[in-house]
Amino acid sequence: MSYLPQKQQDADWYDNIIGLYSKDPLFDLIIQDELKQNKYPKSVADYHKNPGAFGHVPLCVKYCTPEVWEKYKNKKSTGKAKWTMKRTINSGVMYPESFVGCHVGDMESYDDFKEFWYPVIEDYHTGFKVNSPKRAQISTAERFDVNRLPQISEAASKRIVSTRIRCARNFAMFPLNPGAKNVATRNEILNMMDKVYASFPTDFSGTLYKHETMSDQQRQALVDAHFLFRGKDKMQAASGYHQYWPKGRGIFVRDDKKFLNWLNEGDHLRIISMEYGSDVTAVFERLGRGVVLVEEKVRKQRNIPADEDVFMVHPKLGVISCCPSNLGSGLRASVFLKIPELLSVLSFEKIDEMCRNIYHCQIRGVGGEHSAPGEDGRVDVSNWRRIGFFEYELVTDMITCCNALTELEEKIISMDAERKARCKAANKIID
Ligand code: ADP
Ligand code: MG
Repeated sequence: MSYLPQKQQDADWYDNIIGLYSKDPLFDLIIQDELKQNKYPKSVADYHKNPGAFGHVPLCVKYCTPEVWEKYKNKKSTGKAKWTMKRTINSGVMYPESFVGCHVGDMESYDDFKEFWYPVIEDYHTGFKVNSPKRAQISTAERFDVNRLPQISEAASKRIVSTRIRCARNFAMFPLNPGAKNVATRNEILNMMDKVYASFPTDFSGTLYKHETMSDQQRQALVDAHFLFRGKDKMQAASGYHQYWPKGRGIFVRDDKKFLNWLNEGDHLRIISMEYGSDVTAVFERLGRGVVLVEEKVRKQRNIPADEDVFMVHPKLGVISCCPSNLGSGLRASVFLKIPELLSVLSFEKIDEMCRNIYHCQIRGVGGEHSAPGEDGRVDVSNWRRIGFFEYELVTDMITCCNALTELEEKIISMDAERKARCKAANKIID
């Protein structure tokens, strides 16, 4: 929560008066000191002098070479945000533990700073090349075709607590949130969606809760059900996601609580389908219907002609998101999977690395990104890449990974204590 009046939050001079007002790193946009002066950060320069001496660095550090910085440091994007390199890499420079650490304020930035962005995108989405010819398009119905999904194994199914699949979307007619100059467009989106939800057919009807006005009781119920986003992510704050919090934020919950929308969390819209259990088919099918419905009703509400896009789409990058990790399909399909034995033998990081390298998936904790595993050793297993693949293929990645993690869990259960201890000491599965 920012304690400053709106007018002062908007003002440029706000950045320079830290002595007078303190900023909250969990919500306010704080620019790292060297970047504030438009200087190449020492930590990034050090990495490029001797990359071999470093372990993990965020993708933004890896690809912001001295040449890239020199070329782009005084450039402003051609889009509405007039985005800069210092805003682009701020989060990863402030928080070197992040994986990606860079964001855009407008779609044009991805091309305007392409010597930075294309390598970042290709590194993240293994197998995707920005300039390769696009795959032949198939219809939305085919992309969301549940008959193209593999089976979840019976054993995996028993270990799955809940399933959630979501798509990130941004509206073509509004600036991306990190590049918005004030809170007005976030409010406009919230008000527009209020009308859109009122026009939903009865099988999709529900309630829009606005962060600014929801009661404490409503807030707690939404948190307990894993529905609510609450800000408080320092890495997102450093990208400007949480500015003007809680204004213009909201969450739509369908009456049966199986279909939700997040409004202005980071992207304009997160369309979410979720339920208890392992019925990935039902969750995926509902998401497909929801995405089509939202698009159709927004088009109607804003009188957008059939030949114009409702959502921001780039000819090479597909659906646009503020974070490069969500480009393409914006789809993250996840299950909460119980793997307590595996977690007791291999470190969280090791399991995550294995999921990424072999299955194009990742694991997260159960309180959202950057959180810890939950009770019974639950983790969130989801597809890692999002671009260059159809939605059903990404869900397939997740199912394959889930089946494989379950097999490993069973394997560990069947091990004797001595072998288990050896695996634990080595942080890998050994025979
Ligand atoms: P996103 O990729 O949508 O930003 P986050 O990792 O930030 O996802 O998590 C958002 C919320 O969704 C968190 O509260 C998390 O607990 C919840 N969540 C994610 N996956 C599942 C799941 N399979 N079942 C239940 N809740 C989930
Ligand atoms: Mg998130």
